[in-house]
Amino acid sequence: MDQISRRHLLRSGLGAGALAFLAGCGGAGTSRRPGIRVTPRASDASDWEFVSQKPDWLENGTVSAPPPSVMKGVVPRSSWTRATPKLWDTNPMGRVSRITVHHDGMTPFMSTSSSSAAQRLESIRNAHVSGNGWADIGYHYVVDPAGRVWEARSTTLQGAHVKDNNEGNIGVMVMGNYEQQVPTSAASKSLDDFVASLMRRYQVGVSRVFTHREIRPTACPGVNLQRVMESTRSRGGALARA
Ligand SMILES: [Zn+2]
Repeated sequence: MDQISRRHLLRSGLGAGALAFLAGCGGAGTSRRPGIRVTPRASDASDWEFVSQKPDWLENGTVSAPPPSVMKGVVPRSSWTRATPKLWDTNPMGRVSRITVHHDGMTPFMSTSSSSAAQRLESIRNAHVSGNGWADIGYHYVVDPAGRVWEARSTTLQGAHVKDNNEGNIGVMVMGNYEQQVPTSAASKSLDDFVASLMRRYQVGVSRVFTHREIRPTACPGVNLQRVMESTRSRGGALARA
């Protein structure tokens, strides 16, 4: 859908189906894959620091990539998927110069269960890979309603989260649909703390922290998360002070 027809739809009122489409981010579907085993690991915002950790998927392949930086306190990718990215179809991240916040735009999601969050992550990865034909899940990190932060795509690789704007851009997604729900206080707090730690780690200023709709025409990250992001980046907000 081009920008003009999107705007036209936005102005002219929308059916539920069109709203669901426009609220989406990256074409994530809703298919579920049961039986994923998860090791619950609560995130501890005060304990986020970068450690070097070589993921399992680099151990046995013929491809090589530098070990990604995984933050202590972030739930590792190996907790929710055994799938490996199609490295031959990715680009190196390059120097990180911006951070972009998203929602998944699927059905509202309030569960604080780690296994539910892991299943949702896997369904998104599956939609991005099988549905969109991407190399891997599009985002680098995902925040769930309990405030856990999950590792998704390696930050050594460009993501697939803002069309034509993925170079040097870390994608952080908050699970849920923030056209239709408001972020939990735990998710908002974690998002603030985590994005602040990314800003410090990569020396990214608050003026380089965006939401998806600030770069491309889309409803993402939904009106309610957009409002939270505007507040936290404004004077006196947590990210403005980061
Ligand atoms: Zn988005």
